[in-house]
Amino acid sequence: MRLLEAEIDLKALIHNFHTVKAIVKPINPSCRIIAIVKADAYGHGAVEVTRALEKKCFAFGVAFFEEAAILREAGIKSKIIVLFDREVEGIFKYNLTPVVFDFKQAQLLSKQAHKKAVNLSVHVKVETGMGRLGIYNAPCETIKKIAQLPNIKIEGVMSHLSEAENKEWTTEQIRKFKEIQRCIVNLGISPVFHIANSQGIKYPEALFDAVRPGLMLYGYGQNFEKELKPCMKVKTKIIDIRRLPKGSPISYGRTFITKKNSVIGVIPVGYADGYFRKLTNRAKVIVRGKKVPVVGTVCMDLTMIDLTDIREVKVDDEVILLGDLGNEKITAQDIAEWAETIPYEVLTSLGSHAKRKYIREEVC
Ligand SMILES: *Cc1c(COP(=O)(O)O)cnc(C)c1O
Repeated sequence: MRLLEAEIDLKALIHNFHTVKAIVKPINPSCRIIAIVKADAYGHGAVEVTRALEKKCFAFGVAFFEEAAILREAGIKSKIIVLFDREVEGIFKYNLTPVVFDFKQAQLLSKQAHKKAVNLSVHVKVETGMGRLGIYNAPCETIKKIAQLPNIKIEGVMSHLSEAENKEWTTEQIRKFKEIQRCIVNLGISPVFHIANSQGIKYPEALFDAVRPGLMLYGYGQNFEKELKPCMKVKTKIIDIRRLPKGSPISYGRTFITKKNSVIGVIPVGYADGYFRKLTNRAKVIVRGKKVPVVGTVCMDLTMIDLTDIREVKVDDEVILLGDLGNEKITAQDIAEWAETIPYEVLTSLGSHAKRKYIREEVC
């Protein structure tokens, strides 16, 4: 049986959570944290991640209803905010908090809440420059209308940053959000306002009543890299070692030809496992504490690595695709650069394919 394991360090997750808190609290002591656990907690496993952070967070955020249902079925009692779904019936069945992004959706929820004689808390999303979801026509007036719907309580109002690395643009989005906030507060409604994702947390003025970190919880984030600990380590084992003469072609398309007598290892991971084909002749992996290059085209289930410089390497030796060993380290950011993508895609891809193992206790 092949080994492809994602080791998820829940201690690191909790450390990152406290790091977010330590950044946010001095600026706004009442700022709450909505932990984003969509896409199976960015490949880390939503049930385990949510359990580890339960009671620490104001709420958890998922993309779709199905993800919320999985958390409830697993016994999670915390508030769950459903970011991108028009689900109505399941919201009531599982006691979820929907994000409302248009008036029609609010009406349907209100009608159902009224029928069931319950009050439903919702968060309303407004457009400030993301160009995705959110009320974009007369947001304040629409929110006023939503607030007047029977059995609906506006618990939150949110927006989303589209380019948090750009200070000028982010300042403009925050300005628009503040304008909407002023108008809503004037209506006599005082919901929880929130706009900041991980990258937004660096702007003190983006810290409204709550923040919505995702990536930072998993150990990445450009401004706080040093304070964060990556939670995911992905490893496999060498399944074959071949001693090949100079001039031997490796893999599809013969994109790599050995330049000298070489020792080539084969690992049982490929693009079907989220190890991107773009990593062909670009990525490195760690074997026996040393970085070695991926050589030849990444296949569907197999990848070749150059072990020529590693002494006494043998079949079954461990190979780190993501993570550290000794003094060497490969981060999701490194893989993202090699594959011309972002760490989010690296984590969701590798994390969703590997078999997960959780680290909860101090390992000596
Ligand atoms: C994914 C997401 C977040 C979290 O973003 P990160 O960059 O991972 O912190 C926050 N809010 C919304 C609406 C999202 O979709």
